[in-house]
Amino acid sequence: MISKRVHICGAGPVGIVTALGLCRVGIPVTILEADEDVCQDLKACYYHVPSVDILEDIGMLDKLLEGGTKDQELRFTDAGLGRSVDINLGVLSRNFRNPYAVSAGQDWFARVGYEVLKADGYDCDVQFGHRVVSTRQDAERVTVEVDTPKGRKTIQTQWLIGCDGGRSQVRRSQDIKLGGFTWPDRFLLIETSHDLEPEFGRLDYRANGPDWRLVIRIPFGPGANDWTYRVVCGIQEGTADEDVLNEAFCQSRLQELKPLSVPYEITNKTIYNVHQKYAETFRKGRIILAGDASHMNNPIGGLGLNSGIHDAQNLIEKFSKVWLENEDDSILDLYDRQRRLTCRDCIQKMSIENKERNEITDLGEREKMMDYLEGIASDEDKLHTFLYRWAMADSLDYANRVS
Ligand SMILES: Cc1cc2nc3c(=O)[nH]c(=O)nc-3n(C[C@H](O)[C@H](O)[C@H](O)COP(=O)(O)OP(=O)(O)OC[C@H]3O[C@@H](n4cnc5c(N)ncnc54)[C@H](O)[C@@H]3O)c2cc1C
Repeated sequence: MISKRVHICGAGPVGIVTALGLCRVGIPVTILEADEDVCQDLKACYYHVPSVDILEDIGMLDKLLEGGTKDQELRFTDAGLGRSVDINLGVLSRNFRNPYAVSAGQDWFARVGYEVLKADGYDCDVQFGHRVVSTRQDAERVTVEVDTPKGRKTIQTQWLIGCDGGRSQVRRSQDIKLGGFTWPDRFLLIETSHDLEPEFGRLDYRANGPDWRLVIRIPFGPGANDWTYRVVCGIQEGTADEDVLNEAFCQSRLQELKPLSVPYEITNKTIYNVHQKYAETFRKGRIILAGDASHMNNPIGGLGLNSGIHDAQNLIEKFSKVWLENEDDSILDLYDRQRRLTCRDCIQKMSIENKERNEITDLGEREKMMDYLEGIASDEDKLHTFLYRWAMADSLDYANRVS
């Protein structure tokens, strides 16, 4: 029998946001999640101004803020030149209800999203320990094979939304190709309980050629001590994991940033491969992709999950018309075009620029960059133009112009 519920694969942040949006308009949802809990990865931590309004619209902003912070300032530093510029997001109040970004760990984000889904009594059934292993489809249905604690089971559903992350089994099982590339260098992420706020603020992009750093404070819960500072730096191609994941190397990265007389307490260290990739289609028949299942980019500038939230918003609006108003499902092709072309023409481009700006070696070019940032910080209109793009608002406009 074909289920009368929409199935979502993955209870990561994008799966949860999509489920919340669909449930709020009365669409019944089942989430199939491979793990025993909502995704607790420590990856994203920064939600741009337009995303904050979307999170308010789906009813999870207040809860998110119980363990997150409203951040109106960010800093661009050139560590080599010893110059910094503070940028204030307040000017985005021209366009958005909540002119601040939110910082909150992705683990907290997924947790509170799940709590809102449960607390508000929506018709959402989350099946943990359910790993999708294959999918096939015909004109009427998607057939999903799922490994569960009780063995393999087959589900038939009208629609499947793949929110199962970068290695998406939904995408692979439909043979949807990923285009793009992986950077030869990788990122090392170190987290510490040491408070770096007075010197580095809440968010500091520190350019310095190959020795760049990103410093960010990440709240991850309601307690006074529920926060960590994350420092990200690049590691050169060919470097072995054990040469950077050891205590001495990680201490040296932190001590170079701010010398301490004692070792830093390091709570987490991880290496990430850095991709710039997106799927050749975000929709194939009755299967739709959203979030990292359909696109990945380097994390500088915090564009990945934010664009996943934008995918969800776009999809919820169109899918509701198909489900609730019997609109022709060709509207889902528009979802594909709008989000895929926005990914190609805006998100990929911006995230590559963000990485390259950090890594400029030419000192003259770097002086010019800091002059430019100082210039916009003190001119409201120029600042607005810069921030409208930085916060991904113009990528949403771009998507709306795609027909
Ligand atoms: C270091 C780092 C920092 C980042 N910082 C930011 C940031 O500040 N801002 C930002 O916007 N983005 C950031 N990103 C990107 C962001 O983390 C991702 O875009 C985000 O995790 C995507 O969410 P998702 O729900 O699409 O996928 P995921 O978070 O990968 O979740 C996928 C879910 O699907 C489940 N799943 C997987 N396979 C199956 C299966 N076969 N069956 C059932 N379930 C399955 C998984 O268990 C998981 O729960 C960062 C990324 C990294 C690596």
